[in-house]
Amino acid sequence: MEDGSPVPRKLLRFVDVAQRMPDKRPADARRRDFDEIYDRFREDAAAEQAARCSQCGVPFCQIHCPLGNHIPDWLKLTAEGRLREAYELAQATNNIPEICGRICPQDRLCEGNCVIERGFEAVTIGSIERHITDIAWERGWVRPVRPRRELGRSIGIVGAGPAGMAAAEELRRRGYEVHVYDRYDRVGGLLVYGIPNFKLDKRVVERRARLLEESGVQFHLNFEVGRDARLAELRARHDAVLIATGVYKARDLTVPGAGIRNVVPAMRYLVAANRKGLGDAVPDFDDGTLDARGKRVVVIGGGDTAMDCVRTALRQGAVDVKCLYRRDRANMPGSLREVSHAEEEGVDFVWLTMPQAILGDDRVTGVRVVRMRLGAPDSSGRQTPQAIDGSHYNIDADLVITALGFDPDDLPAMFGEPGLVVTRHGTLKVDFRTMATEIEGVFAAGDIVRGASLVVWAVRDGRDAAAAIHAYVEARGQAEVATDAPLSRAS
Ligand SMILES: Cc1cc2nc3c(=O)[nH]c(=O)nc-3n(C[C@H](O)[C@H](O)[C@H](O)COP(=O)(O)OP(=O)(O)OC[C@H]3O[C@@H](n4cnc5c(N)ncnc54)[C@H](O)[C@@H]3O)c2cc1C
Ligand code: SF4
Repeated sequence: MEDGSPVPRKLLRFVDVAQRMPDKRPADARRRDFDEIYDRFREDAAAEQAARCSQCGVPFCQIHCPLGNHIPDWLKLTAEGRLREAYELAQATNNIPEICGRICPQDRLCEGNCVIERGFEAVTIGSIERHITDIAWERGWVRPVRPRRELGRSIGIVGAGPAGMAAAEELRRRGYEVHVYDRYDRVGGLLVYGIPNFKLDKRVVERRARLLEESGVQFHLNFEVGRDARLAELRARHDAVLIATGVYKARDLTVPGAGIRNVVPAMRYLVAANRKGLGDAVPDFDDGTLDARGKRVVVIGGGDTAMDCVRTALRQGAVDVKCLYRRDRANMPGSLREVSHAEEEGVDFVWLTMPQAILGDDRVTGVRVVRMRLGAPDSSGRQTPQAIDGSHYNIDADLVITALGFDPDDLPAMFGEPGLVVTRHGTLKVDFRTMATEIEGVFAAGDIVRGASLVVWAVRDGRDAAAAIHAYVEARGQAEVATDAPLSRAS
């Protein structure tokens, strides 16, 4: 408390106020459109839910938020109706709080570690973060960055996903000229082309992109590094370069028949669906190839991407949607909240099942599967799935979508830059204290460093990289002054 007085009575309400999420639209209605599934919190409901916070001495929610958000503080301000201050505090550590509030797997992060979770159910932290920031947008409190002075230095960022966006804002705030290059035609990366509208309305991302433009960030879209410029050219053009290109190489399904038409990787399917929703012409969708309408759809995989595919297929009008996963529900890698949404909407989960072959000649007719049992734990502690002899059977299907995860592309080859060092997983090798790669003045952030991860980690990396780039450029500036001669940009 700023004034030293005791915590107001308004807080610690978890004993008499039950956990309530914002209203969720009925599953039947959800299945018919791509609108977000949660309604808005009413302002009094948000304040009441925020007042459930126990203001505990060690805020585990904050510790388990990758951004270290000052959660108890902005919950308290929300409970007291001081929304503008709550917003100021929320945005001080997060460049996109309304987006994280919508799509963070809170059950694994902040809310999963809320102290009152045991016995009383967690404070609905994500929904309140979203509420505060949506209100801030409506009331005009979200303003473009206005640097106090221009530094006359420029930074190139490759990738306009959440890592690139967060870094761009932070660098612009410090007075850099910021150029963001992206091979897509819109800003947002997977926020636009991966994550479906029912989880994150595209307009929420678009207004963030506009804000960055109004802040003076310059976007160069339809610009693919490796095709339109080599990394070395960008390095020569800018005082430093940040690589934030994400990971996009789909892991292949390696069973007989995997090459048949109508077996499609998740991103191809989701990009088409998202583009269609944005009003783009999508020939692969319009000719029926990537449209699930009227089809029996089988999605292979158990992560968040698989959940997005099954729920998209339902909304497109599939007659049957099955999700095959080789472990059980308790061992799903994605957010259990997302699994529950999919179950409510009518997805048929076929647990402990693995594909053995895709059936069909020219087109898919089905999937041969085998039942699995969970054996002894492996070195990671997870139980190993083992096939049960003679338990195979066939599932009918017209469209099979594979969601088996992503690996990084071969960036040194793509960028024509053998000096970029990668780890054994193919991710870019950085010094995690500085996010610096092995090439001087070249930094990296987000999925391309971590492997497929989360939006909130991408934001964290983008912010860390921006701070490290600033320190790097300043140090070089001081060296210039000392030698009285401009240093060349490229190392
Ligand atoms: C289907 C799906 C659903 C997901 N759902 C969630 C979720 O609910 N919650 C969550 O927290 N996370 C989710 N994630 C993960 C999350 O989207 C990523 O962790 C996050 O977007 C990574 O951010 P990034 O900025 O590193 O990369 P990206 O968002 O992938 O952005 C990278 C950008 O770089 C551009 N780029 C790549 N190569 C080049 C090049 N050579 N030249 C120019 N530009 C280039 C790309 O076009 C892209 O715009 C999901 C991922 C997927 C695939
Ligand atoms: S950013 Fe994500 S983890 Fe952090 S408080 Fe918000 S919803 Fe929770």
